[in-house]
Amino acid sequence: MSLSQTHLADLVRLLDVRHAALLEEVRGELEQSENLQYIELLDRVPADIGDQSMADALADLNLAIVDRHVRELRDIEAARARVADRTYGVCVDCGDDIALERLRAWPTAKRCHACQQQRERTFSHEGTPRL
Ligand SMILES: [Zn+2]
Repeated sequence: MSLSQTHLADLVRLLDVRHAALLEEVRGELEQSENLQYIELLDRVPADIGDQSMADALADLNLAIVDRHVRELRDIEAARARVADRTYGVCVDCGDDIALERLRAWPTAKRCHACQQQRERTFSHEGTPRL
């Protein structure tokens, strides 16, 4: 990986900010719904060990209002795992470095632009929202 420590730290901060924002959104939606009992889950899982398990814990609730955030939470958790593995910023398909501008725009990106486009052509249905 050719990302400098400074750039990597910036990107990790973006991931952390987005992760926290998503959890706040989930909390807000639980508060507005009939699912107040689940808010306890957000408070119970400590931040330090909760990072890996939060998406799974929320997925287990099987609540539609939470579901749409689970995928993004998983993406963020996967990106953090790649940071820990030192594979963050490397395209999973071709092994090239992912451009810094792309990572800044999509900190969870795991493919370079060319491979992502190739993939979207192959799996064009993936970008279609489920209704
Ligand atoms: Zn690639």
